[in-house]
Amino acid sequence: MRIVILGAPGSGKGTQARFLEERYKIPCISTGDILREAVRRGTELGREAKSYMAKGKLVPDQVVVDIIAERLKEGDCKRGFILDGFPRTVVQADALQKILDRMDLRIDMVLNLEVSEGVLIRRLSGRRVCKRCGANYHVEFQTPRIFGICDYCNEGLIQRDDDKEEVVRQRLKEYLKQTLPLRVYYKNHNLLKEIDGEKGIFEVSKEIVSTLERGNRVDNLKVGS
Ligand code: AMP
Repeated sequence: MRIVILGAPGSGKGTQARFLEERYKIPCISTGDILREAVRRGTELGREAKSYMAKGKLVPDQVVVDIIAERLKEGDCKRGFILDGFPRTVVQADALQKILDRMDLRIDMVLNLEVSEGVLIRRLSGRRVCKRCGANYHVEFQTPRIFGICDYCNEGLIQRDDDKEEVVRQRLKEYLKQTLPLRVYYKNHNLLKEIDGEKGIFEVSKEIVSTLERGNRVDNLKVGS
């Protein structure tokens, strides 16, 4: 099963991608997580990406396309993968198509999480993430078991720099201009499924699972307990 999850920043892509990773035991590949890790480690990639990310701008297409081309060659992607935050432009979507063509693979489904702007801003401003594993929480909607501490690795939770108000506005602008056109792109490829992303996390997960299972996209995949 090879899935792309589309949606604005704050639409719940990361949360749902991690849920699917756990359920179907296929890797969730998040370009945002890969870039943040590179920034944290101070690698050449991180130094290049940092200034774009801090301003809420998209990193140049070729940088993320190269990351994905390498990542998809890894053995854990053989049974499938979930792409979270990639592609984000039509150029990236075309490049993904070419990478997959070379590997004789195809995308099975593109899920678009639909959320209104007011809800996105509320979600992003309350979002907290684990410093170590990147798991997402929210001060109102998804609190950890112990205040300020990650449920998975006991690390402290922080607010991402790019979840601060000014940067959030810029990220939403970039989304509308660069990423929204992908809905039409994937609709034209008959791959798009719309998901109501405003419901609670568990209801959205349920809708995604039933959409995937209705489309017979989960054959041969082990479902986690
Ligand atoms: P995310 O965690 O997906 O919201 O990504 C955080 C930031 O990383 C974005 O605001 C961009 O600066 C950068 N980024 C992540 N994925 C991409 C991508 N596919 N193309 C360009 N920039 C990206």
